[in-house]
Amino acid sequence: MLVIGAGGAGLRAAIEASAAGVRVGLLCKSLLGKAHTVMAEGGIAAALANTDDRDSWKVHFADTMRGGQYVNNWRMAELHAREAPDRVRELEAWGAVFDRTADGRILQRNFGGHKYPRLAHVGDRTGLEMIRTLQDHGIHRGLDIHMELTVITLLTDDGRVAGAVAYDRERGRFRVFRAKAVVLATGGIGRAYRITSNSWEGTGDGHGLAYRAGADLIDMEFVQFHPTGMVWPPSVQGLLVTEGVRGEGGVLRNSEGRRFMFDDIPENYRSQTADNPEEGWRYTQGDKNARRPPELLTRDHVARCIVREIKAGRGSPHGGVFLDISWIKEKLPNAAEHIRKKLPSMYHQFKELANIDITTEAMEIGPTTHYVMGGVKVDSDSQMSTLPGLFAAGECAAGINGANRLGGNSLSDLLVFGKRAGEYAAAFAAGNALPGVDERQVTASITRALEPFERQDGAENPFRVQQDLQGMMQDLVGIVRREEEMREALARLGGLKARAARAGVTGHREYNTGWHTAQDLDNLLTVSEAITRSALERQESRGGHFREDYPQKDPAFATFNVAVRRTHEGAMEVSRVPIPALPPELRLIIEENA
Ligand SMILES: Cc1cc2nc3c(=O)[nH]c(=O)nc-3n(C[C@H](O)[C@H](O)[C@H](O)COP(=O)(O)OP(=O)(O)OC[C@H]3O[C@@H](n4cnc5c(N)ncnc54)[C@H](O)[C@@H]3O)c2cc1C
Repeated sequence: MLVIGAGGAGLRAAIEASAAGVRVGLLCKSLLGKAHTVMAEGGIAAALANTDDRDSWKVHFADTMRGGQYVNNWRMAELHAREAPDRVRELEAWGAVFDRTADGRILQRNFGGHKYPRLAHVGDRTGLEMIRTLQDHGIHRGLDIHMELTVITLLTDDGRVAGAVAYDRERGRFRVFRAKAVVLATGGIGRAYRITSNSWEGTGDGHGLAYRAGADLIDMEFVQFHPTGMVWPPSVQGLLVTEGVRGEGGVLRNSEGRRFMFDDIPENYRSQTADNPEEGWRYTQGDKNARRPPELLTRDHVARCIVREIKAGRGSPHGGVFLDISWIKEKLPNAAEHIRKKLPSMYHQFKELANIDITTEAMEIGPTTHYVMGGVKVDSDSQMSTLPGLFAAGECAAGINGANRLGGNSLSDLLVFGKRAGEYAAAFAAGNALPGVDERQVTASITRALEPFERQDGAENPFRVQQDLQGMMQDLVGIVRREEEMREALARLGGLKARAARAGVTGHREYNTGWHTAQDLDNLLTVSEAITRSALERQESRGGHFREDYPQKDPAFATFNVAVRRTHEGAMEVSRVPIPALPPELRLIIEENA
């Protein structure tokens, strides 16, 4: 079987499938160890209850559902909360190093929307540790690894997945893989927007590949704009500033010096939120009787409050607001040392890139496109998509997060559902014959991929098409959305598609970044259209999706997810998929943890 993607989800899936005795090929666009997961900073959410013994899978489940505004796939949220602790302990057994409590257990930190300190972490380099551990473990399992290979088409045979066509980025040679089962683990879509925290790989390839092969996507309107990305200097705009800064006591202030997050606390979080700065500080220092500061409310809310301050003219000089951790020197005698120890990457990031010492000065930050809650629609237990034999896990799959993901829930999602996808894909591979490869599909894929070399005179520059698409999505389908602007976006998408079909490149196929970008366009355009059409369908505001023309949450929209699929004629069809009723025992857990 094939696993496409070597981030946390792909590696975990490959390890599991290989342990089941199946031969596994693992493909990735970059070098092994460089997948986007390596950038994860804050930690892995799992109710280990090491730092606060009141925590349990039930509280984690309730937090995830509340964060997702109850349009999550509740079964996935349940499995995730139940299984995450075992997956973290397993990672520890495989050699992962974690920060420790005084008595030697895995230390857990506070993060937005989590009631108790829940994020297992290694300073602010948790993703690196996760990738290193999974990679070492996977290599010892004997995975067949193909690096710097971009998959451009999924092959199908008689209604099931049959393999993939790819090209190697170094030489531009095509490769065809036949497989009984395929796991997509290709990560996010951030590169569809101008300002993003995502690496160059986040071009929504898995979303595009699955869609074109006939699988459904859901929840695409739910894009997470992380509240704190760097805004200055321009070369690093969008680069993430971890929520860990706020977890360690960092506060948000506007140009008037006001802690504006106290001005707007949503009703459903009021009872859990501190009503004064002193209580908020005590919470970050582990006082079990204190409630969280409003800076640790969910990301969608914090991002919108920041946008409000900027729009009202109370922003920072470079168009953001201030995030200040240096103020803790009023509370801790060794504050500078403490900050450098707890947030080493943030300290270096600001020192090197912006010449700011975060132990003495405030940072300037603003929202950045960070994560997509939407993706391939999967079965909650097996992670199989609506196309038999095609599985998806990690950020490219959808369901667990609903309308908004809580920080830390992605890394645990990768482990829990990466494992499940590997297990069930291996079982599918073992139980099915090798499919046939349709040469016409292979030829069509390669011919299309090479077309940009044929277009010379009057051809479009793929970089310019990509840049125009990113600017358009940022301006018209961003944090605050309106019907007219999204209709305008759809019209412009038509024009961008036509331009992408005329994209031309020069030179040869070896490491030709123009050609690589021309390949990315199909996926970026598919993802952008899916986001726009789904966002138009959801005429309410919920989680990461905010409609200025429908600013309230509407209970009528809490009963379904929005799905898109490709029709035979190649058009994008939007539908509403009813959410199954929540079982009474899970409803009770949510009520008990309100
Ligand atoms: C800066 C930053 C910090 C974050 N911090 C946290 C955190 O602390 N906690 C948390 O829970 N979440 C965090 N997140 C989110 C989390 O890191 C991601 O959601 C997660 O790592 C995605 O993992 P993945 O395995 O799904 O995909 P990725 O890690 O993105 O890996 C995708 C893989 O697919 C491959 N690929 C893609 N397309 C193709 C193709 N066409 N052909 C072949 N291979 C392909 C890539 O090469 C790569 O190997 C953070 C995100 C960012 C940007």
